Amino acid sequence: KKITIAIDGYSSTGKSTVAKQLADYLGYVYVDSGAMYRAVTLYAMQRGIISKEHFDAQKLIASLPSIDLRFEKKSAWNKAHIYLNGKDVENEIRNLEVSEFVSPIATIHEVRVKLVAQQQKMGLEKGVVMDGRDIGTVVFPKAELKIFMNASANERAQRRYKELLDRGEVVEFKNVLKNIEDRDHIDTTREDSPLVKAADAIEIDNSEMNLDDQFHTVLQLAKD
Ligand code: C5P
Repeated sequence: KKITIAIDGYSSTGKSTVAKQLADYLGYVYVDSGAMYRAVTLYAMQRGIISKEHFDAQKLIASLPSIDLRFEKKSAWNKAHIYLNGKDVENEIRNLEVSEFVSPIATIHEVRVKLVAQQQKMGLEKGVVMDGRDIGTVVFPKAELKIFMNASANERAQRRYKELLDRGEVVEFKNVLKNIEDRDHIDTTREDSPLVKAADAIEIDNSEMNLDDQFHTVLQLAKD
């Protein structure tokens, strides 16, 4: 029987890696909800709605109806790309600049209402793995399996730093660590749907776990 799997946690805990492996193995649809917040952020950056100097939340809210987000399945769901108004932005949304603006954007109630509604639609059919911050608490409070991933900030920053270097970005470790700590702070203290472990979520601290261990731990839970 197919189920809904919600994977939440702090930034760069490896949620998406495990979620993708799991979706692939089970033949489920994988949805990266963070990619949607990132794509809205990219839109806001492109239109000058957000920059280091200013953030025009009202303008963003007014623009929401003209933001169209779509996932396109490639060879498999775990290789899906996100499209912003018809353009593939999968790569662009992963840079550090988007990461620096995304958490303020994600505090906007109207943004969350729009994205949550679209996420719930994508989950109407069972057999979905979705990762994010509020999947087990807000998007799918009735998900059959909820995982909450955690790891030390330093460990997460190390992993993220390596990823950004692999992408060829010129970044300093201290800025990556600061970004992770800032996002943790904004995500956990925002008024609308703060990041919190759902009461019925199973917490996994993967500071000391390799990818294989994590995958098998979660797979076992999905089978139970
Ligand atoms: O998962 P990812 O790191 O790509 O998410 C980027 C940001 O989007 C998070 O730091 C958080 O501010 C926001 N987000 C959210 N709710 C989700 C997914 C992501 O607020 N369900």
